[in-house]
Formats: sequence, C-alpha cells, structure tokens
Amino acid sequence: MATLMEGPPLAARIRTEVADEVRELGGLGLVTLQVGEDPASTIYLRRKHEAAQEAGIASDDRKLPQDVSETELLALIAELNADGAVDGILVQLPLPPHLDEARVVRAIDPVKDVDGLHPFNAGQLYLGRPTIVPATPLGIMALLAEQRVPLEGAEAVVIGRSDIVGKPIAHLLLQSNATVTICHSRTADLARYTLEADVLVVAVGSAEVVTPDMVKQGSAVVDVGINRTEGGIVGDVAPDVADVAAFITPVPGGVGPMTIAMLLRNTVKAARYRRGLLAFPRGER
Ligand code: NDP
Repeated sequence: MATLMEGPPLAARIRTEVADEVRELGGLGLVTLQVGEDPASTIYLRRKHEAAQEAGIASDDRKLPQDVSETELLALIAELNADGAVDGILVQLPLPPHLDEARVVRAIDPVKDVDGLHPFNAGQLYLGRPTIVPATPLGIMALLAEQRVPLEGAEAVVIGRSDIVGKPIAHLLLQSNATVTICHSRTADLARYTLEADVLVVAVGSAEVVTPDMVKQGSAVVDVGINRTEGGIVGDVAPDVADVAAFITPVPGGVGPMTIAMLLRNTVKAARYRRGLLAFPRGER
C-alpha cells in the first residue's frame, strides 16, 4: 500500500511560515477578481480568502457581474496595478467567453501576478529562471520534496498540458533534472508512457483516467484532478492505484490544500519583489 502524500500537514506548516513573514513585512494585500458566479470558483475563492486572512493578509474578494465589459475589467486591473496597498492580483479563471482571457492576464502587472500566468512569468519559468510560478505545480514539488522522491534522472510523465498545471509542472520537473514526457488528449497510447513513469502527475479533470494497470510498481503518483461525482469529490486516478504506487496523493487532501498554501507564499514573494527585497528581473534581457 502506497504512502499517502498528504497536503494538510505540509500546507499548515507553510501557512504558519507565511503568517510569520507577513508579520515581518508589516501586512500584505491580495485582491481576487471573479466574473460571474461559477459555484466551484466561489468555493475555491472562499478557501483562498479564509487562508489569506488567517495568515494576516488583507484580502479583498471582488465580484463582478457576468456581463462586465472587458474595458471595465481592464480598467479595474489598471487601478489595482497602481494601488500601493495591493501586493497580489488574481483573476479567477475561466472567464466568460466575451472576455479575452489572454488579454486580461497580460494586463496584470507581472510583479503582482500571484497566479504566475502572465507571459513574463511563464517565460521566466520556461527559461529556467523562475519568478512567480503557478501555485499548484509549486505545491506538487513541495509534496514530492517532503517525501524525498528522487527526481534527478527519474522518468517523469505529466498528463495534461494546461498553462496552470501541466506545462509549469513539466518545466519544474525538467529543472529538477527529470526526463519529462507530456501527454494529453491526443496521446495515442497513454499506458505506453505512464508505465515507464517513476513520477506520474495527472492533471486531466476526468475520474479514473489512470488505473492500476497503467502505473509502474513503486512509482510516485500525484493526482491533481478534482471531479465532482454523486459519491463526492474524486481525483483523476483510481483509488486502487495505491496498491501499485509507492507514494500517492489522496483526493481530497492532497494537492488542493497545497495550492492554497503556495498562493499565499506567492503573495509574500510578490510583496518582496515589489518592495525591492528581492530583485524582479523586469526589463532585463
Ligand atoms: P484543463 O482542462 O485546462 O487541462 C486538462 C488537460 O488534460 C488538457 O491538456 C487535455 O488535453 C488533457 N486531457 C483531457 N482528457 C484527456 C485524456 N482522456 N487523456 C489524456 N489527457 C487528457 O485542466 P487543468 O489543468 O486546469 O486542471 C486539470 C484538473 O486538475 C481538473 O480536474 C482541475 O479541477 C484540477 N485542478 C486542481 C487543482 C488543485 O489545487 N487540486 C488546481 C488546478 C486544477 P488537450 O490539451 O489535448 O485538450
């Protein structure tokens, strides 16, 4: 039976560290923008704000109507960019189809982009000089490090190629000297790749995409998926994969709590950049 890579104890430790850092910095501000009322987004945001406030971060949950215009949204982002009390700005995705997600993300000052999605921050990660990195991949790396899962020379397989999970975790694994393969919906024979994986990260969004016959004995399996079923929340990995893997993240209670902790850590990092305590490489080549 696999060892569980549990999120809550590690996340609690990180949140305590963040609270200390927030105190040292003399307070921090985080603003989230939500367009419309997607129920799942509302739940995620509530958790983020509860955690922020517990860590002493002043957090403001701005709800905008579903039909807000792009001009209004961009004007609000410009205002927050200029606001000295705001260290971090997070636009909850997805946005309604009338809004250009790429343009909205690009409007955020990269130094306040606590989701790490601005092309500047994404580019820095791609170049191997990470600045602000998306929280979920950071949380995955922390869970793997906590269990001392070896990455150097390991075969790592990531299923999923989103900007928020798949691509950034692939880069972080690559920078840890794993040999990385990225699979996606057009991958012809998923099991051919997953069976070779010493580290398997699954970020698909479909229940039981990965079954025990697809997993290498003794591997570490990270299940990022959140799927709402009649029986409750389940991941992308079938529960009996725990019989084959050496390490596995539970769902719930694995990656989810780590994402929140790392968002708070990103907010502290953003504050350090903006206050000149860390050098943000803006304008450098
Ligand atoms: P996206 O929908 O953006 O990406 C899903 C990826 O999975 C795509 O790259 C897609 O391929 C690929 N895919 C879809 N179906 C298959 C399949 N049958 N076989 C192989 N690959 C497939 O999702 P996200 O990356 O945003 O999120 C993934 C999951 O993680 C979701 O359940 C989400 O809720 C969860 N999540 C959890 C977080 C947490 O904190 N625990 C944080 C963020 C997300 P293609 O590119 O070809 O379409």
